[in-house]
Amino acid sequence: MWDVVVVGGGSSGLPAAIFAAERGGRVLLLDHAAQLGGTLWVATGQMSAAGTRLQREKGIEDSADAHFEDVLRISRGTINPELARLAVDNAAATFDWLMERGFEPMPDHPVAGYGHEPYLEKRYYWGAKGGISVKDVLVPIVEELERRGAIDVRLQHEVIAIDTDEKGRVTGVVARDQENQEHRFAGGSVVLSCGGYAADPALFAELSGYPLYNAAPYPFSRGAGLKLGQSVGGYLRGFENVFNNFGTLYNSDIFPARTVAPVETFPERREPWEIYVNAEGNRFIREDIRSVDAREMALMDQPDRRYWIVFDQYVLDHAPPIVVGWTREDMVKAFAEDGPAFSSAPDLATLAERAGIDANGLSRAVAGYNYGVLTGNDFFGRIHRPVALESGPFYAIRMQGSSISGAVGLAVDDALRVIRKDGSVIENLYAIGELLGSGQTMGKAACGGMMVTPAMSFGRLLGRTLPIAAR
Ligand SMILES: Cc1cc2nc3c(=O)[nH]c(=O)nc-3n(C[C@H](O)[C@H](O)[C@H](O)COP(=O)(O)OP(=O)(O)OC[C@H]3O[C@@H](n4cnc5c(N)ncnc54)[C@H](O)[C@@H]3O)c2cc1C
Repeated sequence: MWDVVVVGGGSSGLPAAIFAAERGGRVLLLDHAAQLGGTLWVATGQMSAAGTRLQREKGIEDSADAHFEDVLRISRGTINPELARLAVDNAAATFDWLMERGFEPMPDHPVAGYGHEPYLEKRYYWGAKGGISVKDVLVPIVEELERRGAIDVRLQHEVIAIDTDEKGRVTGVVARDQENQEHRFAGGSVVLSCGGYAADPALFAELSGYPLYNAAPYPFSRGAGLKLGQSVGGYLRGFENVFNNFGTLYNSDIFPARTVAPVETFPERREPWEIYVNAEGNRFIREDIRSVDAREMALMDQPDRRYWIVFDQYVLDHAPPIVVGWTREDMVKAFAEDGPAFSSAPDLATLAERAGIDANGLSRAVAGYNYGVLTGNDFFGRIHRPVALESGPFYAIRMQGSSISGAVGLAVDDALRVIRKDGSVIENLYAIGELLGSGQTMGKAACGGMMVTPAMSFGRLLGRTLPIAAR
């Protein structure tokens, strides 16, 4: 009988196991994969925390209250206030602990933002190797505890069921090993920390309402925790917070698509020379708007969450390449190779046909934009309008909105106990990490670092507080 059975050894499960073991608990850590680390193997690993020692050393005055207000602002009030509060209140202690154990942030960190809507204060950190930098701190601690006999780690053990007693209290789990043998593990507390569902195309489409394209999520993020929690009475929530980013340049329009290269749609870093149109050919956003959140929200309403970046030969010849790291020659080559995301044509009507855009719509959108360039009155209020798009050939790059995390998750109370729809607690069962759904701590938005830090903090919290039998 273990005091704590941790199901999944990633961002949330590793700290849960570490803190419970360091208190002297009997801890079992099960993972479906052949190695520990979970999504930290693939994540950018950006963390946010306010009131950290590093901030104080750099003269940055910050607080959990300010962090919470900022997350409320960025998410437009769509977070779960109890869980987001719990996350920001514990973020500094988690981050300070990570640094004490050897984590090294980039030298110029913390920063206010990059890639997501910026914070009002510098409270955003990551390491040189992204998520790997965090994994490289956490996994060796577990390995050391395992060597000392303080944690029992079983890899390639897929948890397939939860055991309960006659009163519905959780008593342990059933796991299947790589030889298809089933094992029963009894535990005083069971912590589900087995990640989200962003690598399961069918489940992603069912819960998110749009297809999964992206092959970037960790392959074991297949929604196991959602199903395990539901099997003993838990329920899912967060459907209203399904989210997509502002589009990625993929090598394919079906799963498993890979990113070809980053595309610079941040006007703060490169002012747009192009227009963005949806499948109907319509512009849907002021391309130089200074808010990534505004762009993301606008894309959510477009058919298939897809748009095309459209420009002409003059822009190709004179603008800095919009694909990050590419030269003009790389751009020309990509169009010459005529890959699925790159289309070119001598005129707009043929471009529309090749790219899959409505031709009348595209013609109207380009004419409308050119009118704005000529008169100074852009229909969307765009300020940066360097040239009219009128010198063919014309070009289109297809961008696809998607998400690397699952917004929907298993419902818990503010002590991270899994609950039924009537609010009652399923005794001895806890859930943490992306299994709760990204919408709980990020809302319907991308709040920088509000997945990894909350995952670690919630694991740390449970590891510090779950009951441990006296020995
Ligand atoms: C490409 C990418 C970039 C990201 N960048 C950021 C970022 O910069 N900042 C941020 O805050 N968030 C980011 N995220 C999200 C964040 O990394 C994750 O939400 C977080 O790491 C998830 O932690 P977790 O503990 O819930 O799950 P994971 O870390 O995925 O761990 C779950 C573990 O459970 C195991 N498991 C699964 N099923 C079972 C089963 N049935 N039985 C036993 N074990 C099982 C898995 O093998 C895995 O080891 C990113 C995600 C991706 C994919």
